[in-house]
Amino acid sequence: MLHEKLASIYDSVLRRNPGETEFHQAVREVLESIGPVLGKHPEYAESKIIERICEPERQIIFRVPWEDDQGEVHINRGFRVEFNSALGPYKGGLRFHPSVYLGIVKFLGFEQIFKNSLTGLPIGGGKGGSDFDPKGRSQREIMRFCQSFMTELYRHIGEYTDVPAGDIGVGGREVGYLFGQYKRITNRYESGVITGKGLSYGGAQVRTEATGYGCAFFVEEMLKARGTSFDGKRVVVSGSGNVAIYTTEKVQQLGGTVVACSDSSGYVVDEKGIDLDLLKQVKEVERLRVDVYAKRRGGDARFVAGRSIWEVPCEVAMPSATQNELTGRDAETLVRNGCVAVGEGANMPTMPEGIRVFREAGVAFGLGKAANAGGVATSALEMQQNASRDSWSFEFSERRLQEIMRDIHARCLKTADEYGMPGDYVAGANIDGFKRVADAMLSLGLI
Ligand code: GLU
Repeated sequence: MLHEKLASIYDSVLRRNPGETEFHQAVREVLESIGPVLGKHPEYAESKIIERICEPERQIIFRVPWEDDQGEVHINRGFRVEFNSALGPYKGGLRFHPSVYLGIVKFLGFEQIFKNSLTGLPIGGGKGGSDFDPKGRSQREIMRFCQSFMTELYRHIGEYTDVPAGDIGVGGREVGYLFGQYKRITNRYESGVITGKGLSYGGAQVRTEATGYGCAFFVEEMLKARGTSFDGKRVVVSGSGNVAIYTTEKVQQLGGTVVACSDSSGYVVDEKGIDLDLLKQVKEVERLRVDVYAKRRGGDARFVAGRSIWEVPCEVAMPSATQNELTGRDAETLVRNGCVAVGEGANMPTMPEGIRVFREAGVAFGLGKAANAGGVATSALEMQQNASRDSWSFEFSERRLQEIMRDIHARCLKTADEYGMPGDYVAGANIDGFKRVADAMLSLGLI
């Protein structure tokens, strides 16, 4: 339920941003959590902090023309939403996927404000992308698209202004092409303008692994807080992209067994535990679908087309594919099958009804803003290394990541306690993330 004042703010968000359903959903989740803060801090309402936070500082929409291998011309739409820079330069990834429109970019940018705040590092919130579909495109087509995209984007970004990175459809290869074009246009080797770079040209150790590793560390903390661990647990990780792969790797290292993964064609169940080398070969090297994994793996591994991966029984669920992939009904199935913890590797993968089911059932629910903050946190570490022209070891970088995730977990619990909602990570993360941004905005005057 929304506090009265917040209900009218939410109504005006609906009116001003028609049709942007994912953005509405993300705003509503935060507003539902921060009601208790307003009672304690009347100064936030007096200076209309919430209304200001819900309105992006700047929204850029541009044309991206490019030519395919047959010489045919295509026009896509590019976006960069610079949402909030109270804590630092806008920071957040770029998503290339046919579903991308302003409402998706705004939901992601809005989430990013609070996620970045929770890391405790000096980064503001932003997000961008395009409705370009990389599926089936050649390497040269991808390069031409990235170059065209950056030919417009470069004028809006900079190491002190706005620092993009990857997201769905944008990995190390794309970041390389984007950075190459930025460098060429500006004649500046400005490493800190984008993160997720390759290790040979200013990238950081553990950045590739960071979102997945961080999510596994976060869930490990949640389990520890309940007196248990990953050891011997059955885990389902949806998706099979960067986040899913490195979540699986770390969960296996921590003693859990990941028994299923998926992509948009269906899911694979592999009771012996996912063979990570094979999954990496199929998804990262050959860029094929998960049914190929099942075929090559043989034995008991089987591919199930067109059904929900959440019907596979598990004790820990880690949705790591995309937004709204886990419905209220999926959550009921998971609870019935004995799920005790959820760690969101993707952004907003659980629908509001699903979150309600998990909270009511007492499942430890680590929402994306907290659980998947390891990716962007390690991007901030990459910026730190770029600024000091330094390069840290894998071990040191992973230790920093683990410390950051432990710290986020502890702060979520502490804040939830303070506001009388013990063990509620949704309340803890939203309130803690919000307060830091709100306090900075108050200090900076009417901006
Ligand atoms: N796209 C990632 C996220 O959702 C990372 C963004 C970044 O590293 O800037 O947090």
